[in-house]
Amino acid sequence: MLADYAVRVEQSRGRRFPEPKHPYRNDFQRDRDRVIHSRAFRRLEAKTQVFTRRYSDHFRNRLTHTLEVAQIARTVAAQLALNVDLVEALALVHDVGHPPFGHAGEKALDAAMRKHGYFFDHNLHALRIVEDFELRYAAFRGLNLSFEVREGIIKHSHDYKADEFPELSEYLLDSRPPLEAQLIDLADEIAYTNADLDDGYESRLLQMDEIRSGVELFDRFYTEAEQTWPDVIEKLRFNESIKRMLDRFVGDLICNTQEQIRAAHAHSVEDVRNSRERLVLFSPEVEKERCQAKAFLYDTLYYSPSLDVEKKLGEQIITELFDFWVTKPDELPITYREKAEEEPLPRVVCDYIAGMTDNYIYDQYQKRR
Ligand code: MG
Repeated sequence: MLADYAVRVEQSRGRRFPEPKHPYRNDFQRDRDRVIHSRAFRRLEAKTQVFTRRYSDHFRNRLTHTLEVAQIARTVAAQLALNVDLVEALALVHDVGHPPFGHAGEKALDAAMRKHGYFFDHNLHALRIVEDFELRYAAFRGLNLSFEVREGIIKHSHDYKADEFPELSEYLLDSRPPLEAQLIDLADEIAYTNADLDDGYESRLLQMDEIRSGVELFDRFYTEAEQTWPDVIEKLRFNESIKRMLDRFVGDLICNTQEQIRAAHAHSVEDVRNSRERLVLFSPEVEKERCQAKAFLYDTLYYSPSLDVEKKLGEQIITELFDFWVTKPDELPITYREKAEEEPLPRVVCDYIAGMTDNYIYDQYQKRR
């Protein structure tokens, strides 16, 4: 049973190339399955989220992060009676546009592009992947995803201004995305905040006392866990505290979004689209807690000197290879040389690099040193 403000698959604006109905999967289920079967999705396994593989092979990579986002988003969507199939497709596709080496890689690729008057944006890149780069089907290029999935790729985390991005005009930039897409951004925030505390602690880059003094919510739950389980090892109390943080964020997101929907009198997808602000939101109290945890991670983990060496190396690899292929386009694979006849060379080189896994770009770099 879907809520009146949920997206209905029967009312989808459809695919670019119309296709016959599938006998037992609806269009959003097929979109989800197409994402899972795409190359870009499989490559997430070898892309850095925060920690490179050097640290441990049980830390999150972009694929396992994506699965955690999908789990959280499905849970919230089911409670809000949203379209879970659409939410799952959006969660699984939300990070496919990320280049190798995490945010350091993204920054370096953007800087390299800006020297040529362009820029790099992972959401726009994800749209190019699903529209153009994936070659699986004989009848069309790309994955031919439903409108609502393509719209969500563009609009889940960021509002692009209609006058700055005329090429995206079909995605209704002046209106809010459906709740299914709004949800992805916050499920992403919940997933990585908790996961990065977890991996940060496990890697010993974050110490228990600094987490407790830097993240009040964690400290509260840890104190409870100490009282409930005085005799278990610290790591298990840590896990219990992270679990409670996750539950608090998810529970609050569900309750507060229900209130926002009520207050906005949203009774249809059109009401959601026309509402002035996004409706999927944490309560002010929990938003403050979440921001404190996030700020703590920025201060202590994301910019920590221990991660810096690899970030710098990642940036250097991307910058040098970008310049290499821009000055020596004959060294590009034939498919990219052909593309460069129709598109600006920096864009083609950027697309090539952005699609690479950490492993693959590292090999490319070694070969050219
Ligand atoms: Mg993400």
